[in-house]
Amino acid sequence: MRTLNISDFDTILQESVRVHGHLCPGQVLGVRMAICGLGGIGIDDPKGKDRKKLLVIVEVDRCATDALQSVTGCSLGKRSMKFVDYGKMAATFMDLETGRAVRVVAKEEARAQARDYFPEIGNQYVCQIEAYKIMPDEELFYSEPVAVKIPEDEMPGARPGRARCARCGEWFYLRSGHCTHLCRSCRKGSYYTRVSSLGEALCEKP
Ligand SMILES: [Zn+2]
Ligand SMILES: [Zn+2]
Repeated sequence: MRTLNISDFDTILQESVRVHGHLCPGQVLGVRMAICGLGGIGIDDPKGKDRKKLLVIVEVDRCATDALQSVTGCSLGKRSMKFVDYGKMAATFMDLETGRAVRVVAKEEARAQARDYFPEIGNQYVCQIEAYKIMPDEELFYSEPVAVKIPEDEMPGARPGRARCARCGEWFYLRSGHCTHLCRSCRKGSYYTRVSSLGEALCEKP
C-alpha cells in the first residue's frame, strides 16, 4: 500500500486531526511538511515497508509535531523521532539505510501569503487551514539535503546499557561520550526541585 499518495491527503490529515485532537493550521502544515520531507528522501510507505529505516528529527514542540508523528509513524518511544529544541518550524527526514537526509523548514512568508489564496475568508486561522492544503510546496517550505550523524546508541534499534547514579541512586540509560557514574540531572541540574520536605505523601525511595 502506498501510504503517501497525494490523493490520500484528506485521509492522512483526518488521521492527524484524530491523533492531535483538533484541526488547526499546524496539522495541515505538519502533514504537508511530512509529505514533502518523505518525498525528498524517496520514502513512500513510512508506516509499512519503510518503517524501520526512517528517522525524523523535529525542531519544535508545536501542533505540527503531532502531525509529523501521525504521518510518519515515528515517535520518541520508538526512538525514531528525535526532538532538538531549536524552536523552529522545521524537521529533518532521514533514510537510515542510505544516510540520505533532507531538512524542511516552513517559510514565514507563507502565513501572510495564505491570505492571497482566500481573501474572502476573514478569519486568519481558517484561511491558513484552507490555504496550506493547496499552496505549492515551494511557497510553504524550503528544503535542502543535509548530513546527519546519529550516534550508534541513539539509533532506533539500539539497546544502550544502564548504570546507577553514584549521587542520586537512580538508574539511567548510558549514552556514548557521556558520564557513566553520574546521571545527567545530577551533572547538569534538573528541571524539577524536590518538595517532599513539604510533607506530601510519597513512596519511599528504595
Ligand atoms: Zn493544533
Ligand atoms: Zn543522579
